[in-house]
Amino acid sequence: MELEEVSKIYPGVSPVVALDKASFTIRRGELVAIVGPSGSGKSTLLQVMGSLDRPTSGKVKIVGDDVAKMSDRALAGLRATRIGFIFQQFFLAQHATALQNVADGMLYSGVRHAERMEAAATALARVGLGHRIDHRPAQLSGGERQRVAIARALVGNPAIVLADEPTGNLDSVNGAAIFKLLKELNAEGATLVVITHDRDLAAQLPRRIEVLDGRIVADVSSADEPLSTERQLP
Ligand code: ADP
Ligand code: MG
Repeated sequence: MELEEVSKIYPGVSPVVALDKASFTIRRGELVAIVGPSGSGKSTLLQVMGSLDRPTSGKVKIVGDDVAKMSDRALAGLRATRIGFIFQQFFLAQHATALQNVADGMLYSGVRHAERMEAAATALARVGLGHRIDHRPAQLSGGERQRVAIARALVGNPAIVLADEPTGNLDSVNGAAIFKLLKELNAEGATLVVITHDRDLAAQLPRRIEVLDGRIVADVSSADEPLSTERQLP
């Protein structure tokens, strides 16, 4: 995924510049935190990256396709098959089982029902919920509900998974467990972008893109960081 000078201005009496010429590239297999305080433009960035919203200016490319040149219909197809979303509020269907909720993640993929169910069961096992597939959201804990949402985002094997404050509704123990799970899924090959306002959680991830007032103010990879002075001394 490539962003080139992407800006988003929300029109109004006093227009809001929510994104101001943001540029970066995310490669297959990366695990990236987007970190910044509330109101800095993180959710706007996720919407634009996920083609849920079009930028006011600049270019967004997803697996080589320029979003600006795609029809709404083509974009819907791209979202359905190439992008997985995880949100703070889980957005699970209350009347449906965990299995059905996850299988619905492939509803528009053209895959047959039986195959969707099988993929959903595999995805639930991957997030540690193989024993809860018949439970409805009300019968699950908050952490388990978020695992179902993660399984739903991953089930179609998307090119990239975008998570907006995935631990925002969880206590710190469950939040830490979700971060551990995201790291495991990345180690198994998933490309993940995780938005958070929590610097401690972001610090656990190998790359951090920092947003402030709609601008990218830092883009740091752990591999680039120099050793501390103490460690360099004999
Ligand atoms: P974050 O996710 O970092 O909290 P947002 O991307 O939600 O930040 O918001 C960035 C800025 O854009 C904020 O000032 C917010 O008030 C404004 N904003 C977000 N969505 C809209 C909208 N639909 N219309 C107008 N302003 C918006
Ligand atoms: Mg937000």
